[in-house]
Amino acid sequence: MRMADLKQGERGAAAMHGRVGHGGHGGHGGGHPMAATPAVVGDYLVRIGCDPLTEAFGKRAFSPPWRGSRPVDADNADAVIERVFATPRSETAVAYLHVPYCQNHCLFCGFFENVWRPEAGPAYVDDLIAELAAKSHTRLIASAPIDAVYIGGGTPSALDADDLSRLIEALHRYLPLSADCEITLEGRSYGFDIAKAAKLAEAGVNRLSIGVQSFSTTVRRRLGRKRSGEEVAAFLSELLALGRTSVVCDLIYGLPGQSEADWRRDIDTVARIGLDGVTLYALNMFPGGPMARAVEHGKLPPPATPSAQAPLYAEGVERLTDRGWLQVSQSHLVRSLRERNRYNASIKRGVACLPFGAGAGGQAHGHRWRNVIDIAQRCEMIAQNRAPIEGLALVPSDHAAHAMIAAGLETGRLDLAAVEALRPGFRVAVTPLLANWTAAGLGELHGDGFSPSLAGSFWISNLTSGLTAGLSAAATMCEGRCVL
Ligand code: SF4
Repeated sequence: MRMADLKQGERGAAAMHGRVGHGGHGGHGGGHPMAATPAVVGDYLVRIGCDPLTEAFGKRAFSPPWRGSRPVDADNADAVIERVFATPRSETAVAYLHVPYCQNHCLFCGFFENVWRPEAGPAYVDDLIAELAAKSHTRLIASAPIDAVYIGGGTPSALDADDLSRLIEALHRYLPLSADCEITLEGRSYGFDIAKAAKLAEAGVNRLSIGVQSFSTTVRRRLGRKRSGEEVAAFLSELLALGRTSVVCDLIYGLPGQSEADWRRDIDTVARIGLDGVTLYALNMFPGGPMARAVEHGKLPPPATPSAQAPLYAEGVERLTDRGWLQVSQSHLVRSLRERNRYNASIKRGVACLPFGAGAGGQAHGHRWRNVIDIAQRCEMIAQNRAPIEGLALVPSDHAAHAMIAAGLETGRLDLAAVEALRPGFRVAVTPLLANWTAAGLGELHGDGFSPSLAGSFWISNLTSGLTAGLSAAATMCEGRCVL
């Protein structure tokens, strides 16, 4: 449904963690122009005098924090993951539970996995609960609190209310949840109702993240969404009136056929309803996906380019902040204190993420991995007493510095001295870049801090990629070979 920023866990990447989330929409995307060769700092210099919002870059860059991970040999994977689970944590973590079923394949989405069948729900929840129980006594899980859980997909809200209730009860039974743990359930309005929401709240869910994408019924129909915009808005109002959870939604800008007026109405609808938070995602059209094919065959108009998306982003942020909403990250704005956005913020900071369920990705103790996505294969591996994981890899040596850059830019102030402490030489490597970006209107330097402007915030993935190239340059300088 959406895109927890990394749908976590890295689902596919887009979400390592999060969402990537549901991603598609947001921010992962679009390969970097220099993708074939390692990018260097100079690739991210901007022409002074251009409009920073619409002209700073030709396309969106993508530099995920796991790029440069080193795969663990398959023969050693079981032993290595066993060691990871046997090693205690000293800090809080988050957990991601994946539900790989959707009622239909939405046109824009690159995360569809399995068609939802009601009869599959109880067995899948049994599987998840068994995994929670089996891992609950490992040191990785039991040694320190978990302060945010994200149940994402797919479409978790499609599961039966009783199955969801026993899953959430199992979370409390088997995981060391903190007293104020944020428990998010991702959903869509189709197949969801207030009775189910009340039951979820009763079980302990305190945050509902609803994938709306657009309130325009015409745009929604093109995406494969079943309910009208009016029906979705009414459902969100009912969830808020229930008063038991924080209620947030996702919107996408730059969709095919979506006018500026449509987007303005979407933003105004969110404000009128009074949601606790909203995430604004730029459309990221997956190459070869159903939307790309529809555009190719002339069935849909082409989506907005990044330079056409930029004013939509700026208008969305400004219309909400003018009404008193607070921008807490590049894409997320909140209206009430009830919305903490803890899971997504933690993922951006690179905290340990503990994955459960087919297709969930996670990372801890310098390793990242994904649970086998194919449900039958996962069951078979468990029956054979093998770890049902794939893609186990050592994270890159600059993973923590990269996460610090990403999280700092997201929250509006990057602490350059803190990155320098992790990677000596970073400040020198990025000095020309920061001077250029400041002159071009992408941000401001104040002492040890760099704060992106609204334009810089739109191009955050390019800024992150440029500064990450600075990490590589600093590492190379340390080895006596400057690549600037
Ligand atoms: S419900 Fe639609 S948007 Fe969400 S994961 Fe499934 S196909 Fe993607």
